[in-house]
Amino acid sequence: MPNRTRFLGKTFAAAGTVAALALATAVPAAAAAPSTVEQDVAQLYQYVSDLYNGLPADALRGVDRLIESPIPQIGPRSRAAQDPIPGCTEGSLLTYANKLAAQLTPLENQAMSALSGLSQLYVQGVATDKAPQVFGTDGQYTARATDTIRKLRDFWDIESWNIQLVAWKGTDLGSQAKMAQTFSLGLAPAKVKNAATLATKVLYEVPALQGGRHPLLSLNAFSAPADSLGGKRVALGDGLLDTVDFLGFDDVSVEAVVGHEYGHQVDFAHENHPRNESSEMGPDAYGGYFVAHPKGFGWDSRTQQEVTYLDASVGDCYHSHGTPDQRKAAGAWGEKQATSQGNPNRIIPSATMIRKFQEEYPKLMPPAAATVAAARG
Ligand SMILES: [Zn+2]
Repeated sequence: MPNRTRFLGKTFAAAGTVAALALATAVPAAAAAPSTVEQDVAQLYQYVSDLYNGLPADALRGVDRLIESPIPQIGPRSRAAQDPIPGCTEGSLLTYANKLAAQLTPLENQAMSALSGLSQLYVQGVATDKAPQVFGTDGQYTARATDTIRKLRDFWDIESWNIQLVAWKGTDLGSQAKMAQTFSLGLAPAKVKNAATLATKVLYEVPALQGGRHPLLSLNAFSAPADSLGGKRVALGDGLLDTVDFLGFDDVSVEAVVGHEYGHQVDFAHENHPRNESSEMGPDAYGGYFVAHPKGFGWDSRTQQEVTYLDASVGDCYHSHGTPDQRKAAGAWGEKQATSQGNPNRIIPSATMIRKFQEEYPKLMPPAAATVAAARG
């Protein structure tokens, strides 16, 4: 429900602005009454909901997000409500993201929900790496991202030429042309132009969104399989990179996150879709192997340790993405596979790596969590 006082305040303010504008411009007699910010946000939310409802059935299937965003997601729920694992403390990145979300008013939260959902669909269904991609709010991560995806394509023995790496940028929401392409993915053609115009309008009339630079708009990364909308791709959010920098993991952010998301591509290529925490811990392990391996980044033990702390920072306390301790253990296990092998330059075939991790995974599960998971079957 919109806050009444706020609603009226905005209405009066908007009326004053429009009266001033009416003197300066010829407003057609039949023009509709000016909308309030609240009406704009509600209408945009409806457009984005309609867009999601109009997508092809498999558009979002198998798309794996790095974190469950604290902003309510438009579209199908990826996780049923459940109680947190007792005694577990969520990772520092999730704590920070929740804190950012808690600072939003209900109106800002609704605008954020609509626009982050819209920008995710842009990255998933419209963006392409055939155009040069700019990573980081000011392009400061572009060189590292380009280097990382090139190394990953050479490293793992899966079909890789068609795995795109695309930048997820909140600032793309400011482009009406890009938003029109995005709405065209599922909204009735007659509504596309108005919806795209409204997206840009809301981006700038809700100051908290910072014109697309609020980190929550793109505080995530994801990996998408071949048969989803837009095909095989890894998306890396500017908001995620800014946040990881803030938390102190900047020197490993791009390599660790893209290494993890590419790990999902390794699983996709082998149709390995575990229905437990190993679906996230596996990519942590493959990513750890990659960054520690001389043919990956060959990072030293201090830097390897930093990667495991970043893995832990996105751990949650539900039986979905792995707890911080589980994820740290999975990343460290992967790193150890690289540093302890007889021939340091040999790269374990991806199918073998998957099998080895699936054998190891039960030992990385704390007993209490293993019991619950077993009971769930
Ligand atoms: Zn993941």
